[in-house]
Amino acid sequence: MGKNKKADPRAGMDVDSFKEDIQQHLRYTLAKDKYSSTEWDNYRSVVLSVMDRLHDRWLNTQQRYYNDDEKRVYYISMEYLIGRLLDNMLVNLGMQDVAAEAMKEVGLDYDKVRNAEWDAGLGNGGLGRLAACFLDSMATLGIPAIGYGIRYDYGIFYQQIENGYQIEKPDLWLRYGNPWDIVRPKIQYNVPFYGNSHAYHDDKGDLRFRWDNTHDVLAIAYDTPIPGYKNEVVNNLRLWKASSSSSIDLKSFNQGQYIDAVRDTQLNENISRVLYPNDKVFVGQELRLKQEFFLVAASVRDILRRFKKTNDDWRKLPDKVAIQCNDTHPNLAIPELMRILVDEEGLNWDLAWDITKKTMAYTNHTLLPEALEKWPVSLLRSLLPRHLQIIYEINRRFLNEISDQIGDDKGKISRLSIVGEGEDPVVHMASLGIVGSHKVNGVAELHSNLIKKTLFKDFYEIYPEKFTNKTNGITPRRWLRQSNRELSDLITGEIGEDWVTDLDQLKKLEKFVDDKKFMKKFAKVKQNNKQRMADYIEEKRGIEVNTQSMFDIQIKRIHEYKRQFMLALYAITQYNRIKANPDGDYVPRTILVAGKAAPGYTMAKLFIKLMNDIGEKINNDSDVGDKLKFIFLENYSVTLAEKMIPSANLSEQISTAGFEASGTGNMKFALNGALTIGTLDGANVEIKEEVGDENIFIFGNTVDDVERLRHEGYNPWDYYNSNEELKKALDQIKDGFFNDDKELYQPIIDALLQKGDYFLVLADYEAYVKKQAEVDELYKDQDEWNRKALLNTARVGKFSSDRTIRDYADEIWDVEVKK
Ligand SMILES: *Cc1c(COP(=O)(O)O)cnc(C)c1O
Repeated sequence: MGKNKKADPRAGMDVDSFKEDIQQHLRYTLAKDKYSSTEWDNYRSVVLSVMDRLHDRWLNTQQRYYNDDEKRVYYISMEYLIGRLLDNMLVNLGMQDVAAEAMKEVGLDYDKVRNAEWDAGLGNGGLGRLAACFLDSMATLGIPAIGYGIRYDYGIFYQQIENGYQIEKPDLWLRYGNPWDIVRPKIQYNVPFYGNSHAYHDDKGDLRFRWDNTHDVLAIAYDTPIPGYKNEVVNNLRLWKASSSSSIDLKSFNQGQYIDAVRDTQLNENISRVLYPNDKVFVGQELRLKQEFFLVAASVRDILRRFKKTNDDWRKLPDKVAIQCNDTHPNLAIPELMRILVDEEGLNWDLAWDITKKTMAYTNHTLLPEALEKWPVSLLRSLLPRHLQIIYEINRRFLNEISDQIGDDKGKISRLSIVGEGEDPVVHMASLGIVGSHKVNGVAELHSNLIKKTLFKDFYEIYPEKFTNKTNGITPRRWLRQSNRELSDLITGEIGEDWVTDLDQLKKLEKFVDDKKFMKKFAKVKQNNKQRMADYIEEKRGIEVNTQSMFDIQIKRIHEYKRQFMLALYAITQYNRIKANPDGDYVPRTILVAGKAAPGYTMAKLFIKLMNDIGEKINNDSDVGDKLKFIFLENYSVTLAEKMIPSANLSEQISTAGFEASGTGNMKFALNGALTIGTLDGANVEIKEEVGDENIFIFGNTVDDVERLRHEGYNPWDYYNSNEELKKALDQIKDGFFNDDKELYQPIIDALLQKGDYFLVLADYEAYVKKQAEVDELYKDQDEWNRKALLNTARVGKFSSDRTIRDYADEIWDVEVKK
């Protein structure tokens, strides 16, 4: 090829090709020019140019998977909290700088183009973000994986704060279309609902079942390319959209029937209308059950269609297919796979069951009892009659199988039964998942051990070999390389760029702790990130913050167990100290909080109001000045997380021990050089092991302490009465110090003092406030602080989702990982 020959403008990785492609798309795809184009048009023409560079790789990858007939991994999740994709795609294609230069040369501002993108919020929090990180890692590790999910019209609501209260606004993320996905109108499946299960005898005289008189909804595939990091691999995320079935009966209507028939199609489309905005609570609504089966039915059809193209022996299914269920939400895949194998493919039950178990695996994400999915039998009987029969049969055989082992211990049998007893019995989806899978995993060591000891104790005794741990991780591409470009460049400048796919390489940074020149640069990066955050706060909230102050951040869903309230109590305490002694020597702090509350979670929403009221008081008090700020930022999302995390000095991970299964926010902060203040909960335990006890602030009751306290009879009044500062803070909340309406915060006070403070806020308060004083002490010595911050970055390689995915690949999926 001649040196001056330009690459095809649609595929070239050089500036000129990319530039030309952007201009071509603006004019010939979008019919715009530089006079008429909007920010959205500019963004779209850039995305189209990126997509051009993905398509060959995407097709080649899929062709190769097909030819090699390798085992595939199918990740099924109701949620993918993806965030924006432009930077992610450019980083993984290795052409961020080329694209930036090309944009500049055609007169586009990279930041404006980037900001035109809507944040894809098809998830609630950690569980959905984990699925997104896993997609990135599976592609980067070259695993033939497909993610399946739902293409909701409305993602997680947009949170606005009005008068201190959370207001939910619909998130119409598809308003202008989604330039990253491609509809596959010919890839569609009927998803049946309702109807009856009919018994009949086949030609051989065997008893068989047929599900008929169903009401069908169509699932249509939308595909998003998922590139690995600089490895030419492009995997697929396939999201299903509901549509009225093509078999809709359009014979002859009179006018009334016609309108009804067409309106009926609208009802079908409702299935993929909206993401349920609850994090870790089960809401047993019929529409949600429809969504779950819709996802599962379309995905299993698609999986089996692909399997059948190259295989004719069902016994090979577990050698070619691994299905991972992200929580119990997709666990109907177990009876659905059984139904297809037995009813449609004519396999005998035992063989079908063996195949199903070997194919399926399930991840547990929480011990919270209110989160566990329990579907009423009555609802299943009407919506999925055949599945209910199959679940009963699975349960019958399971209880039979273990009867020798457990004898007639009635309590145990009832705890193990997949289907409950009584008036309106329920199906326990977690139990179904355990019985119908070959592996069940928790998401951090502590959590996986607790599962075995508490929630699934009886199952663990029967199937110890099924239980395993896969500590969560985060993708270093998004959470360092992309979101903290300055730190990323500093690191790469010293140790090369291999860390991006081998995060343990960050260990090499340890030797710089005594390198003054390096440490100065490291501190400067943090300072610049803090400045950018300060600019954002000024713009959004009109509050000026001191960028020398400690940036102390808690961002996550608002939940009682996550104890945002305890941070609020600390802020009040610090405020009271300043008021009592305005000339004291205080380490200035800027406390930043963000997070959404489920729309139906009254207590969490009241916390938001309280935090905003506290902020009002503190931030407008001239005695306080910049010694303390307490700021709630609205609409926590992946995009906001990417801005906030690089600016943090202190990461708040203060859940009641035993309640946070893993946490992944904790990992993002540590990777970006924040120190953690936290309890021995979830992955904090492993973060402590990795970074060393002296580089993390651990406080409070442990899991064992919590159990002991409860056993002894925990009395929050004892703590209230014995700690003056705690008493004062609570009294202020109660007595209208933060809001003239004295009744407003009574429910919070009642939960703590009258109803037993289930999350042990009062029990941990003193240790927490003392630990915060240690944090202040260290912050006074900036050199020492920065050394510890660097050691955090250097030592958290374990928490790369690449490591997590390798563990799944080796120990659950049995697939090979290349490179
Ligand atoms: C990482 C992340 C979470 C999970 O945070 P935790 O602190 O682990 O609860 C939730 N939401 C968003 C947007 C995230 O990026």
